[in-house]
Amino acid sequence: MLKMKDILDEKDKRLRMVSKEVEFPLTQKDKDLIQSMIDYLHDSQIEELSEEYDLRPGMGMSAIQLGVPKRYFVVVNEIDEGEFETYVLINPKIISNSVEKIYVEMGEGCLSVNRPVEGIVPRYARVTMEAYDMEGRKIHIRAREELAICFQHELDHLNGVLFIDHIDKKNPFKGKDQYRAI
Ligand code: ZN
Repeated sequence: MLKMKDILDEKDKRLRMVSKEVEFPLTQKDKDLIQSMIDYLHDSQIEELSEEYDLRPGMGMSAIQLGVPKRYFVVVNEIDEGEFETYVLINPKIISNSVEKIYVEMGEGCLSVNRPVEGIVPRYARVTMEAYDMEGRKIHIRAREELAICFQHELDHLNGVLFIDHIDKKNPFKGKDQYRAI
């Protein structure tokens, strides 16, 4: 079972690596890691479990956040109280995106950034992702709003980019009127 201490902190240089494409079939190690990522994200969003196991809540996690430089991430999205949908995206890319950009008004969060960071991170409001599932089948996923932001945040991790990199240091709220807040 994954614990908070297994997740790399922003100061760890491995988070700056560009992760490598995954080959199929997946190794058992990768399959096990993906399952542990799903479990963490799921449990962390259930209050009793997150308290019991001391898990910081998160909806997305990339392999590199566990020190594994491979191009995959997991997203567990709560669609209704206690109801979750799970996405595993391997070798993902954005194949189309909206012109419109949005940002999280409260600021984005990251399991590797253990401090509040204010500021605007512009993201596409809608994206279509192309990726592979765990069996190596090609998949396409359309996402909008929060889920779209999450996919873009995780895709950044695979390229060694953190959300804080997108924030203008001198003026964290630069461009506020250009983008829609969610
Ligand atoms: Zn993150």
